Amino acid sequence: NVRVRFCPSPTGNPHVGLVRTALFNWAFARHHGGTLVFRIEDTDAARDSEESYQQLLDAMRWLGLDWDEGPEVGGPHAPYRQSQRMDLYKDVAKKLLDAGHAYHCYCTTEELDARREAARAAGKPSGYDGTCRELTAGQKEAYEREGREPIVRFRMPDEPITFNDLVRGELTFTPENVPDYGIVRANGAPLYTLVNPVDDALMEITHVLRGEDLLSSTPRQIALYKALAEIGVGNGTTPSFGHLPYVMGEGNKKLSKRDPQASLNLYRERGFLREGLLNYLSLLGWSLSADQDIFTMDEMVAAFDIEDVNANPARFDLKKCEAINADHIRRLDVKAFAEACEPWLNAPHANWAPENFDRAAWEAIAPHAQTRLTVLSDITANVDFLFLDEPVEDEASWTKAMKEGSDALLRTAREKLAEAEWNTDALKAAVVAAGEEHGLKLGKAQAPVRVAVTGRTVGLPLFESLEILGRERTLARVDAALA
Ligand code: GLU
Repeated sequence: NVRVRFCPSPTGNPHVGLVRTALFNWAFARHHGGTLVFRIEDTDAARDSEESYQQLLDAMRWLGLDWDEGPEVGGPHAPYRQSQRMDLYKDVAKKLLDAGHAYHCYCTTEELDARREAARAAGKPSGYDGTCRELTAGQKEAYEREGREPIVRFRMPDEPITFNDLVRGELTFTPENVPDYGIVRANGAPLYTLVNPVDDALMEITHVLRGEDLLSSTPRQIALYKALAEIGVGNGTTPSFGHLPYVMGEGNKKLSKRDPQASLNLYRERGFLREGLLNYLSLLGWSLSADQDIFTMDEMVAAFDIEDVNANPARFDLKKCEAINADHIRRLDVKAFAEACEPWLNAPHANWAPENFDRAAWEAIAPHAQTRLTVLSDITANVDFLFLDEPVEDEASWTKAMKEGSDALLRTAREKLAEAEWNTDALKAAVVAAGEEHGLKLGKAQAPVRVAVTGRTVGLPLFESLEILGRERTLARVDAALA
């Protein structure tokens, strides 16, 4: 039975790297009919926040990445917030000490730094040098009398550690590269290095899928698992590990959490569809097939195999993310599209008075918007001409479209529009004819009409827009532009 976990620390805003990790764990669990455990690693009181915790839950809900055990849903291993499990970790630390898998280390930070520097200068491995590994009772007493407070340090085995990474294949770490490491602070606070594998053991996690930045902690954790098995914590098995590739941003640097493009909130605010965003994020290291970039989450779940994940760094490409989102917008049925736009048709996004909103006009324009939008938030600017008493005043559009001769063109267009039957084809014919009188192709001839009526140089197909806006309002706006 597959059991995976998504275990973020609640610091800052959720970012796309985190979502990618959550997505791959979710898809893996769903593919195998397994269990996704959502665990909150909030053992760092200085950095964790309740707000960030709420944002994580909210993000997972919005994305539709449902979990089987965790906050709000509970489960057999509750609680799922590490801050509520502290006694348990302290107990495990004590057992590790008693069994000799860990020891008290009295070295001060200054001493450690000095020795690390010296080792570096001598070209030797600079990890913990084992000073406190075999202290006698007398040595310990002497340190305690000095008032030193020990940390708890895990004793790494002296042999290399080899494991088969599900993404990267067989990896070996030699002891020089994986020195003994701290698991409990001098003040008694258990560290990530302890609590993460302890919970994985207790929660019977079978597969750990996480970012490559955590690869160096894997040999330590594998050693800790063995020790936990010996002292009877968990069910005695070590999970398999798979490390997801780095995500690279601008200038081929790792995408950082602080990168504006990395913030999940940005995608929500811009009106990405969850399916579009998840589809794109799944491509950061995985693909459905060489010739199919667009797919649903059901298709991903059906096909997902962690062994197909590529170990090479993935490049984050906002343009591609937008293009994929646009595709998902096209795939909706028009009713679902109109519903998805609802939040943007209301304040604070919409710039028109709510009572001006005209549902019939919206329903008429929606299909035209659906084939053109990249992100849903663009809807307001595309349809506001229908709901504002006067079109927005966009200076730049005005100067761009209203050139020498525009007035003359507009006057002719006004005459022809006034006589036209009020449907798309006739309206187009009217503007074409007006253009011809002034030696202008349609593109040039329609620009001033568009700006006069919508206030903008770009927008939805013009003649459909005019048809929906209606004769009276269209002519009044052309008149206003000529006045
Ligand atoms: N809380 C850790 C983090 O946010 C989780 C690491 C892991 O997946 O083991 O990076």
